[in-house]
This record gives sequence, structure tokens and C-alpha cells, in this order.
Amino acid sequence: MSSIAENLLQVGHRIQAACRLSDRPSAGVRLLAVSKTCPPEAVRAAHAAGQRDFGENYVQEALDKMAALADLRGQLCWHLIGPLQSNKTRAVAEAFDWVHSVDRLKIAQRLSEQRPAWLPPLQVCLQVNVSGEASKSGVAPADLPALAQAVAALPRLQLRGLMSIPEPADTLAAQRAPHARLQALLRDLQARGLALDTLSMGMSADLEAAVLEGASWVRVGTAVFGQRQRPAAG
Ligand SMILES: *Cc1c(COP(=O)(O)O)cnc(C)c1O
Repeated sequence: MSSIAENLLQVGHRIQAACRLSDRPSAGVRLLAVSKTCPPEAVRAAHAAGQRDFGENYVQEALDKMAALADLRGQLCWHLIGPLQSNKTRAVAEAFDWVHSVDRLKIAQRLSEQRPAWLPPLQVCLQVNVSGEASKSGVAPADLPALAQAVAALPRLQLRGLMSIPEPADTLAAQRAPHARLQALLRDLQARGLALDTLSMGMSADLEAAVLEGASWVRVGTAVFGQRQRPAAG
């Protein structure tokens, strides 16, 4: 068995254990394998082990990887989880299935306008800044309801939920706190009538805390593919 296949099994066990702890069905938590900086062969090995959903941070790197994996087209589901500039929206609208990192209406409008008619609506999460000043990306919680209402109205996007990248923390309690805040924000939007079902939160170090607070996608890189060679730039 490849080490990536073994890692996928182990991460699956971690997710299942956290689901048992929180009385959640394990089908309610899906694994997004974060393949940023990994070569196409690593994605191919994960696909051979049954993994279908992959997260990328950098648009050009992702497009190059998709081209190298063109023989698997239709079998892989691509998620953008990194910052998105307006000059890259067309490529993203044409090539990705999900974008987790929308935090401005202008970007959402461009994605909706540029989503090709022959593809299903682009699945979108709004990135929320749950750590206050420490993080620069993400919509502030106070501005979230207005942004969510506006994005939900765009015809070629399907707003699914919220995403966050909290500051790293050492204890389970400290890891759970920002995830609990994101879950509360999702519930608030649901109470306002938005049909949302997705919380994208939790990474290699804190996926248990995220599952305990209701994560539906955990985004896991290092624990699946090993330590990244290149630092995660830009
Ligand atoms: C890199 C990255 C991850 C994965 O982080 P790991 O600690 O390697 O699991 C998850 N989410 C985002 C947004 C990332 O940039």
C-alpha cells in the first residue's frame, strides 16, 4: 500500500473516531485532500486509494495539475481554498467545482457571470475571519449576513456554507472555540432563511475539534501527503 493510501486510512480513522465522540454519522464529514505543492502523481496515488475531492490554493498550479491529470477528468472534484484575485475568476469558474474562499461580493459576481452554462452551478462557501485582527482574509462576522444574502441570490452560484482558517491553537478547547463560532454563524444564517448545509473547517492539526463542532468538510494536507516541500507561498 502506498504511504498516501495509508495516510488516507489513518485520517479516515481520525474522522470516524471524532464522529463517534460527537454522535455524528461519519457520512456527514467529508475529507478534502489538500494537494497544494504536491505533484500530480500524489493526486493520482490518492485517487487510486479512493479519494475524489482535492483542495488547491494557487490557481495556476491547480490548472497545471488538472492538465497533467486530464485522463482522470470527471473522476476528480476540484476545490479552490486559497485567496482569489479578480483576474483569475474566469479560469476558476471554468475549471473548479467548489470555491471555499469567497469573501467579497465582487469576486462572487464575477464567478457567477463567468460560470459556463454547460456546468452545474459553482458550489461556494464564504470565508469568515473568526480570529479577528490576526487574519487578513475572510469577511468580518458583522458583514456576513449581507454578503450571504447577496451571494445566495447570484444565479450561477450555489451558496453552501462557511469556511474558516483559525489561528493555530494547542488545546482541544482552544481549537474548538473558533469552530464553534463558525457553527453559530451558520445557524444564524439558516435562521434568516438561507438553505445552507456546509461548514468547511479543520485541518491536519485540529480536524477532531472541527468535527466536534459540526464540520462537513475537513481540509487535510500534511496528514495525507506528508510535510510540504515548498512553503505555502502567497
Ligand atoms: C494548506 C491548507 C490546508 C491544509 O493544511 P494542513 O495543515 O497541511 O492539513 C487547509 N486549508 C487551507 C485553506 C490551506 O491553505
